Amino acid sequence: MKLPLSFALLASAASALAQTSAPMKPFGLVIHGGAGVIERKAMSPELDAEYRATLQRALDAGYAVLEKNGPALDAVIAAVTVMEDSPLFNAGKGAVLNADGFCEMDAAIMNGATLQAGAIAGVQHIKNPLHLARDVMEKSKHVFLIGDGAEKFAESLGYEHTPREYFQTDFRRQQLERAKQLEAKKDNGTASVPLGPASPGGLRDEHFKREQKYGTVGCAALDQHGDLAAGTSTGGMTNKKFGRVGDVPVIGAGTYANNATCAVSSTGWGEFFIRSVVAHDISAQMEYQGKDLRAAAAATLAKVAKLGGDGGVIGIDARGNVMTDFNSEGMYRAYHIAGQPPVVAIYGDEPR
Ligand code: ASP
Repeated sequence: MKLPLSFALLASAASALAQTSAPMKPFGLVIHGGAGVIERKAMSPELDAEYRATLQRALDAGYAVLEKNGPALDAVIAAVTVMEDSPLFNAGKGAVLNADGFCEMDAAIMNGATLQAGAIAGVQHIKNPLHLARDVMEKSKHVFLIGDGAEKFAESLGYEHTPREYFQTDFRRQQLERAKQLEAKKDNGTASVPLGPASPGGLRDEHFKREQKYGTVGCAALDQHGDLAAGTSTGGMTNKKFGRVGDVPVIGAGTYANNATCAVSSTGWGEFFIRSVVAHDISAQMEYQGKDLRAAAAATLAKVAKLGGDGGVIGIDARGNVMTDFNSEGMYRAYHIAGQPPVVAIYGDEPR
């Protein structure tokens, strides 16, 4: 049946009105690929483009989940998986090497709706560590599993045993070599760098610190149901020893989500981020002092800096306000909030 033109016009006007008057539920996500000495002058145009393209792919993978009304947790996993699978970042493939020359990876995820969390540390054979962190949260009675135990748990769930070589890249081997050389210099007293009082163990090797390329990955997401989630995945720090674990899998330090406040993922010098309980500190300021996300993050990063640490944080709050902040030279970062264009940035002079 053919509708009279006036009726069709009326119907389409009414549907347009319904679309514009229904308030859109805020949703979106923010990701990082690590903070550190990331400077324009040190980056080739090709590498710059490769980083931006991979960040965009990770962002799109997470956004696609949210757009289809999927849960924030799935969006976090989707975005982080892209970065774990890319050799560009310090997570999954391309994770940094420990002092013995292999990768030990840490990851954590948190569900802001339930305050459930899952974390793993020191795994060597898990292709996508954040997947295992989620399984710890959803399929075990525990929150935090480490090393062999975490790997046995993965085996019991049918995870593939990924050989150590899969994760290792030439670039990370060179970084380890360089870190060892610098360490040796410091050990025999020939380092020409100032040692301050602020670092773990009471020593601070400025030069060594500036050589570190971080590159941890993380995501914080808000879905259309109003649920928040955060996840972070890392190889930790180059040349780490003695089963060292950083902030990433420590709930409240590297990773935190609470529907009442925000979802946060951190990257940077983990020892300082643990001591400053960074992610929870941001949430706590919002909860107890009514601060907004950006102000809370700036205050927490200032505390980290005061202790001598550097790095960055990303977050999203329950209303869809997004934050990316760092006190290092740069941070690989991107965000996409519904109704706004996506943003991808790397250097300190780009939007945060
Ligand atoms: N925060 C991580 C760690 O200390 C390192 C990083 O962010 O790249 O393990």
